[in-house]
Amino acid sequence: MKKLFTTSWLIMGFLVTGFAQNKASLPEFDLQKPELEAHMRFLASDELMGRRTGEQGNLVAARYVAEQFRRYGLANAPQQTSFMQTVPLEKMGALGKGNLFVGTDTLRSGQDWILMSGSASDIDAPLVYAGFGLENAAKGWDDYKGLDVKGKIVLLQSGSPEATSPIEIITASDGKRKLAAEKGAVGIIEIFKAPVPWNFVTKFFGGERVALAPDGKTVTLPHAWINGQESKFTKMLRATDKMRFQTTGRSFQTVNGYNVVAYIEGTDAKLKDEYVLLSAHYDHVGVGKQGGQPYSPEDSIFNGARDNAFGTVSLLAAAEALSKQPPKRSVLLVALTGEEVGLLGSKYYASHPLLPLNKCIFNLNTDGAGYNDTSILSVIGLDRTGARAEIETASKAFGLDVVADPAPEQGLFDRSDNVSFAKVGIPAPTITPGFRTFDAELMKNYHQASDNPETIDFGYLLKFSQAYAYAARLIADRAQAPQWSKGDKYEEAAKELYSK
Ligand SMILES: [Zn+2]
Repeated sequence: MKKLFTTSWLIMGFLVTGFAQNKASLPEFDLQKPELEAHMRFLASDELMGRRTGEQGNLVAARYVAEQFRRYGLANAPQQTSFMQTVPLEKMGALGKGNLFVGTDTLRSGQDWILMSGSASDIDAPLVYAGFGLENAAKGWDDYKGLDVKGKIVLLQSGSPEATSPIEIITASDGKRKLAAEKGAVGIIEIFKAPVPWNFVTKFFGGERVALAPDGKTVTLPHAWINGQESKFTKMLRATDKMRFQTTGRSFQTVNGYNVVAYIEGTDAKLKDEYVLLSAHYDHVGVGKQGGQPYSPEDSIFNGARDNAFGTVSLLAAAEALSKQPPKRSVLLVALTGEEVGLLGSKYYASHPLLPLNKCIFNLNTDGAGYNDTSILSVIGLDRTGARAEIETASKAFGLDVVADPAPEQGLFDRSDNVSFAKVGIPAPTITPGFRTFDAELMKNYHQASDNPETIDFGYLLKFSQAYAYAARLIADRAQAPQWSKGDKYEEAAKELYSK
């Protein structure tokens, strides 16, 4: 009995220390707090002026990330000669002045309507109603059928027969502009109706704006959104067959943004053709008025320490750890730009990937509003994306518990860059610093000038980053790729992606 006890104790001891040694020898267990703290203090410094997309501070942040990738010995993505992926952007000036004259009524810019796009114009032209202004043979949409809109202004409803959420209604708008221009229209009046307060719409879309530059020629025809919550405007426009569209236009300028992309080749001869995509956005909202929230002369810089220097540091930590000892599958690291201005960097990347998307088995995105519980990390989409075990094991190794999908009312899954990859079918959760609810403590820093590096818990930053890197490794080492849970809304996209 005694002997047996001793033997099994020995075996147990061997197993325990053997396992511990094996784990402890992984580079993510050796990551150092001062290294991560230095990344954080640089990325969230006042000197970077809130890292707003389209501004200098954002470009400096991109440069910093690229040079850290170089320092850690990462490679460029296959066939690339730089860590930088150019993301062509259009920077639009604030709303111009203007009037719409409809019969005896005058609708004022910035009040009754906003100019979404377009240069200075003064057009007196017939007005033609064209439904949603969409064409899609597969879906049976044919709103221009039998209409001649050449030289005319088209009157459209916002959204599409399928769009229900504000985001879907808003994103349907861009395609309409292109199509109307192709049909020869000279202006667009879109009756904007979505469950969003009109003053929010004017504030968000009326100010200076950054968007992805269109593929091909820029369309300059004036495009207005009319307040569709005022039913008298709709009636007035439907009752007339001509109008005058007068606007000073919005200035626009083409600028380059950058996703920063690096590659770590996997060690398994067979599995290394597949890869795990690690992503974090490094941009934030800027300075002063750009932040869209109150600020003071003493603190007008939106440093974005939590959102999302925190995630960017975790990405750099994963770069350091995984490059020292690569996992079986390859790893592609993408520091994304343009998240705060509409998930632009991830949208661009998903439509201009540097490696085939159907070889990407998983996207582990990290982003967050902040944290109010440093004993956990939270995962948006944990139980939808098939890698709970790895994420839990990795978190527990650093003393953190995992909380799945806090604050479901916030619809967070569809609000960060992971959704750009989920939409094409890649299982894509977002790992976020620990929170259980969107409470006052979290909101205290979310998109506020107070989100400074001085208030970061660097011990927590270290643990979080270690867990992120280790989770990435465990997923990249898996025998089988993670799968969407049955019936998930992105499961169909996955079937299509991975059957190619
Ligand atoms: Zn963010």
